[in-house]
Amino acid sequence: MINPRVKSLTKSTTLKITALTKKLRKEGKDVVNFAAGEPDFDTPDFVKEAAKKAIDEGFTKYTPSAGIPELREAIADKFGKENNVKYEPSEVIVTAGAKYAIFVALYGLVGSGDEVIIPCPYWVSYPEMVKLTEGKAVFLPTKAENGFKIEPVKLKSVITPRTKVLILNYPSNPTGTTYTKEELIDILTIVKKNNVTVISDEIYEKIIYDGRKHTSFASLDGARDLTVTINGFSKAFSMTGWRAGYLAAKQDTIDQISKIIDHTTSCICSISQKAALAAIKDTDWQLKIQKEFHKRRDILYNGLTKEDKIIPFKSQGTFYMFCDIRKTCLSSFDFSSRLLEKYLVSCIPADAFGAEGFVRMSFATSTAQIEKGLERIKKFLGEL
Ligand code: PMP
Ligand code: GLU
Repeated sequence: MINPRVKSLTKSTTLKITALTKKLRKEGKDVVNFAAGEPDFDTPDFVKEAAKKAIDEGFTKYTPSAGIPELREAIADKFGKENNVKYEPSEVIVTAGAKYAIFVALYGLVGSGDEVIIPCPYWVSYPEMVKLTEGKAVFLPTKAENGFKIEPVKLKSVITPRTKVLILNYPSNPTGTTYTKEELIDILTIVKKNNVTVISDEIYEKIIYDGRKHTSFASLDGARDLTVTINGFSKAFSMTGWRAGYLAAKQDTIDQISKIIDHTTSCICSISQKAALAAIKDTDWQLKIQKEFHKRRDILYNGLTKEDKIIPFKSQGTFYMFCDIRKTCLSSFDFSSRLLEKYLVSCIPADAFGAEGFVRMSFATSTAQIEKGLERIKKFLGEL
């Protein structure tokens, strides 16, 4: 009865564990939430005000399916100013979160038997989205010793005449790795030669540490027209529930993909669009949260490095700390479920990201919670 492609999907581990953590906390359990895939800050007040105004003014109807013109314009403007990429407003589509932007990009690009290269560890939803197209996921392993970065020779070796897309995500969920401009140019040289389109998921671009600068893939010389850039408001503005994301690409790609929006979501919530429009004009708030995340990253990293059974990878961006737990001799699943059951600390087992032997700890929680979580982890590891 059920479509076999849908049957083959697995549930999202990140969403499942995040929901379980919230449920336990609601029941009064003192769970330290290192599972969170969303900033713990409230959406800024100026964004909420814009949404309230939209409601009061009756801005509550369908909008053009690709988004209200002023938001598409503001996004195109942001690309020019912050990312050094020139997109016309007509080359931008506003979507129900970045997640839907990635899905429509894949659905629009990938045909029967086409191959999609996914660097591993990967964000949990990429392979599942590929399953929903008629394409095939091809995993490209990366190593902790190389900072979980794509090695150009390895990339070359997995490209075949059927390769259609490479999914890039940096700063990366779950590893926190990011790339320098030079490293991106090496990737560009290979994809260009092989006529591969890059879906560049840059949703964590603003959460980046140690003075690093984010370079948008599409800003590289000759990359714009082979790139679909993904971004959104969830992480940079603490707006996960508003479901506001976007994609940008050359005009004919956008014209094709916008037909999928027409016949699926119609448009995103009109009120969220006004909220997103207010958000995109502000950069101060983002700097504030970046500073706060930087501080938290250091506390979590310094605490974890004191443990000998766990090796944290120092995040270069995002609010995730990827940790090697192989010295504990536990599977990722056993590690995270025992840590949650016995010590009330939730984290994500990285088998969900194609990386058995690792877990992902989020520091999108207060410094007091991070300290508490570290104490509990110490006890847990001491008992093994
Ligand atoms: N890409 C990555 C790498 C993510 O971690 C997330 C977080 N859920 C998304 C895309 C989607 O974000 P959203 O749909 O909330 O905009
Ligand atoms: N991206 C976040 C995470 O990886 C949110 C949950 C999700 O959308 O998967 O935890």
